[in-house]
Amino acid sequence: MIYNVTGLVIGETNVGEHDRMITIFTSECGIVGAMAKGSRKAHSALLHGTKLFAYSEFVIAERADKHYVREAMPKEVLYDICCDLETSGVSYYIAEVLLAAATASPDPELFRLALNCLFALRERKADPFLIKAAFEMRCSAILGFMPEVSACSVCERQDGEMMLDISEGILTCPACRKRLSSAEREEASAFTRITPLSESARRAMLYTLYAPQERLLSFSLADEDMRLFKDAAEVYIQHHLERSFNALEFLKQARNV
Ligand SMILES: [Zn+2]
Repeated sequence: MIYNVTGLVIGETNVGEHDRMITIFTSECGIVGAMAKGSRKAHSALLHGTKLFAYSEFVIAERADKHYVREAMPKEVLYDICCDLETSGVSYYIAEVLLAAATASPDPELFRLALNCLFALRERKADPFLIKAAFEMRCSAILGFMPEVSACSVCERQDGEMMLDISEGILTCPACRKRLSSAEREEASAFTRITPLSESARRAMLYTLYAPQERLLSFSLADEDMRLFKDAAEVYIQHHLERSFNALEFLKQARNV
């Protein structure tokens, strides 16, 4: 069977001397793993269209449950080798999250989110860590574990600093938290991680969960609010995907360079 898909290369493994096994995140059928024979040869017609972060139109042949790339016409290559360490680190991180979270079912919203964020990284439309945090929160919402961050879960207060319960995805205001006995507070902390959110950080989180995708990155925060938002977003998605990511180690080192 021969079929056509449009997709983004989010994983690659070299095989033998000239071949590449690639993972494509497609809009039509989710994740597709396909062998790109000869694609590492200097003059291969598949060379550019099957590179990591290439966004291409593929013609795939399926034989005996195996998929082979017949053609790969690059629409864009979303990875610029001149990128700084933070931009490339966030790009790898997004690819790693998609590899962990995407399935063989189509998910057009997740596909659009990935493309938008990688385009924004390449075009340097926003700080790479703002893009990362916005991706983490919107991805969490798309995958079905959206937190409820519009108000305190007890008194429904909507302003001021709040504590985010990472595993439950709910907020508690300082007054409601104070009303808990110390034993209740300890018990709650033993089972989940609680992280603080300033009002601005919480509003940014709310924004990234509900804003139209084309305006997802149109916000800014003061340094301390951004730190709280970024920390909460990173911990939140890792907790709900139940894993950590190698690219985060790379990013930590990049920040210290
Ligand atoms: Zn409250």
